[in-house]
Amino acid sequence: MILILAPNTDTESPDFKKLLEQVSHFRNVQTRVHQENGTRQTLTEIYLVGDTGGLDPDAISQLPCVERVVRISDSYRVLGRHKDSQRTTAFEYNGITFSQDDLHVFAGLCAVDTPAHVEEMMKALRDNGQQCTRMGAYKPRTNPYAFQGHGKDCLPYVFELAGKYDIKVIAMEVTHDSHIDEINEALEMTGHPTGVMLQIGTRNTQNFELLKAAGRQKKLPVLLKRGFGITLDESLNAAEYLASEGNRKVIFALRGMKTNMGDPHRNFVDFSHVVSVKRMTRMPVCIDPSHSVGTRVRGPDNIMDVFHVTAQGVIAGANMILVDFHPHPQKALVDGPQALRLEELPYFLEDVRLARESYLARRKLTDDFLKAHPEP
Ligand code: PEP
Ligand code: MN
Repeated sequence: MILILAPNTDTESPDFKKLLEQVSHFRNVQTRVHQENGTRQTLTEIYLVGDTGGLDPDAISQLPCVERVVRISDSYRVLGRHKDSQRTTAFEYNGITFSQDDLHVFAGLCAVDTPAHVEEMMKALRDNGQQCTRMGAYKPRTNPYAFQGHGKDCLPYVFELAGKYDIKVIAMEVTHDSHIDEINEALEMTGHPTGVMLQIGTRNTQNFELLKAAGRQKKLPVLLKRGFGITLDESLNAAEYLASEGNRKVIFALRGMKTNMGDPHRNFVDFSHVVSVKRMTRMPVCIDPSHSVGTRVRGPDNIMDVFHVTAQGVIAGANMILVDFHPHPQKALVDGPQALRLEELPYFLEDVRLARESYLARRKLTDDFLKAHPEP
């Protein structure tokens, strides 16, 4: 059960203390206070966890400070969609709004290799009106002898170049909780020229200690990738770990499933689940066409499979696209064969725009139909 309090409730006020006092008497029920500091208001919620079956929502809604009471089902308590809950799906980070209604492209390097490549990439993004990117510093590699990423050494120049080209958010994978500290230290040291969205990769979807560490800090949002060999429910529970620790700025990424039934793609493209995840949870949903498809192959229509699956995800309402680009894919240290080239960036963005326009037109078509023919 969630008690949604009146906006800007003062947690030092006697009313709030009285409320906490009252809920502390519920037997076998733990309480957790969650605060969301927005630009205009602070929203406070109290989570009642445990044996809440016998509690009366009407009586609880009469308690001081309480605006609304929402009963929640057991799964995905914080991030899930629950009946009667109109809670927002949106969050803002470094001036950019993420929600189930927006769409942002995060084109960039799978792995940072040289400052020159980072700069070429950032400049192309700026020149094409983009404010988000991906930059891998810590790379989880199958082969222990493969390039592991430059780690914290590259962070200062990556952040400074991002600032120079007005990039607001960098999606960056972390594979250990110490990486979160290193990122924060480098942001601090460079004077916060940009922002970072922590990426948790498919190999770490169920690394619960890493999830807890990324969830305990509330500053940086988290992009959680779906586990490539576990059920959707297990991956959504992993997302819930982040939120249960306090960080609700979570985006869920589909990146393909590991099975040879996906051949000839690197992974089985799972973007038909965009709508399922949006229905089951309030998280914005990201698609990663690069790691799903894994090559630059084209169909007989000459359109690359990476473009086709991106369009399929966007036309179904995806909210973020994580896509590998590289100024010189033949020189890339990781995943060169799937990288798009910088001259393909405006072409890719235009293709995305067409698919997005089509998605919005489909929404309008449905709204108009339902207005004329309400569901019985
Ligand atoms: C990546 O995005 O660079 C990556 C390693 O992705 P995944 O975790 O989906 O394999
Ligand atoms: Mn990669």
